[in-house]
Amino acid sequence: MNKDMIHEQGEVTDKLREECGVFGIYDLDGQDVASTIYYGLFALQHRGQESCGIAVSDTHGPKGKVSSFKGMGLANEVFNEKTLESLHGDIGVGHVRYSTAGASTRENAQPLVLNYIKGTLGLAHNGNLINALELRKELEYGGAIFQTTIDSEVIAYHIARERVKTKSVEEAVRNAMKKMEGAYSLIVMSPRKLIGARDPYGFKPLCIGRRDNSYILASETCALDTVGAEFVRDVEPGELVVITREGIVSDKSMCLPRKKHARCIFEYIYFARPDSHIDGVSVYASRIKAGRALAKDSPVEADLVVGVPESGNAAALGYSLESGIPYGTAFVKNSYVGRTFIRPKQSSRISSVRVKLNALKEVVAGKRIIMIDDSIVRGTTSGRIVKMLRDAGAAEVHMRVSSPPFLWPCYFGTDVPAREQLLAYNRTVEEICEKIGADSLGYLEIDRLQELTDGLEICRGCFTGTYPMEPPKEDIRGDFEL
Ligand code: SF4
Repeated sequence: MNKDMIHEQGEVTDKLREECGVFGIYDLDGQDVASTIYYGLFALQHRGQESCGIAVSDTHGPKGKVSSFKGMGLANEVFNEKTLESLHGDIGVGHVRYSTAGASTRENAQPLVLNYIKGTLGLAHNGNLINALELRKELEYGGAIFQTTIDSEVIAYHIARERVKTKSVEEAVRNAMKKMEGAYSLIVMSPRKLIGARDPYGFKPLCIGRRDNSYILASETCALDTVGAEFVRDVEPGELVVITREGIVSDKSMCLPRKKHARCIFEYIYFARPDSHIDGVSVYASRIKAGRALAKDSPVEADLVVGVPESGNAAALGYSLESGIPYGTAFVKNSYVGRTFIRPKQSSRISSVRVKLNALKEVVAGKRIIMIDDSIVRGTTSGRIVKMLRDAGAAEVHMRVSSPPFLWPCYFGTDVPAREQLLAYNRTVEEICEKIGADSLGYLEIDRLQELTDGLEICRGCFTGTYPMEPPKEDIRGDFEL
């Protein structure tokens, strides 16, 4: 698979990528759950479009009988009615994935299903372990042979190994968690239990829902809404929840003091769907706040505020509300760019940005435009969009970014590229502005970030270089997959 094709998918800029979305369900009435998982994955598709999968098991049937199906592509490309009907079971996990490096193969798709002496484990994981290499070596020296190159297999093996020594699968997950360092939101399916776990820093989201007699675990609340489930609560950072016929049991022995929490702020700024709530904070409201803060800190005289779709739109509305400058729609996005979109050759006159996005001349011509986007990574696309507005007749283009400049890599599951590739690295704001060809440029102040989460503790590593935990000595990005 050509990686460029994957990177191009459905997006309009050189955006960061979320790595995965997870969904799990246990239907206590014994109904099949595969189709609910499918719609859950559909709602989480924005978190990963490269591969997806579903694994289900029958809690009344023989231990160890798991049916699974996974493949490359979007949920509606991988599954059809026939495949879903073939997946029988009242407990199950699903996963959507995007990988930053290494093989984009079917073997690396999740959920991972592992057969071992105590039965079968199904596992879906979102995040990135910073000590995966050590954990992998430890197992390999013990004779383990890995079939994939993903962290999730390392986690699954550690859980299986612990399970042999412990009385319950939850104890095994807890022991494995004690060894795992980094970011993870996990769903584990054992023959009779559904387990959810979130790393003690809370980098990645995970929530609990309920629909009739079914319990659900999902990366985002939008997936609960989609399947008609009620939101029960978020899994707390460091918490392990076990769902059985008797209900939910919580283990908070791994939780850290709140001050240590480090939610990935990009969940709020860009990754999560705006209709989701994470740890009690509305993603949409946090984007509006970012726009308002930008308007206060980086005002400019203009006629219209516009957002780069989709994630720039709410911040643009916030800017408009705060500044009083009218909000408008300047872009039309083509939403039909699929996984196999072929990037036009550089020699052709077709621009991949224009294939996906076009400016509305009627709206922008002759106007001073404030254009809001959620981030600038390499900057190539920002430059093209600024030019697109100018070509459509904009008198001025002022860019505002609803996050601070990216200066450092991320080790926790976001593919922030190497420092040298980051436009903001070694450049002043004026120099960046010149590079993208805007009339002015303003970023969100770092001090504003915590306002977006109503004071909840967040990670700021990619802006400050100060991480919530000691980063790996070498650059592990590229060695690890999710
Ligand atoms: S370093 Fe940045 S992208 Fe990575 S977890 Fe922290 S806030 Fe998120």
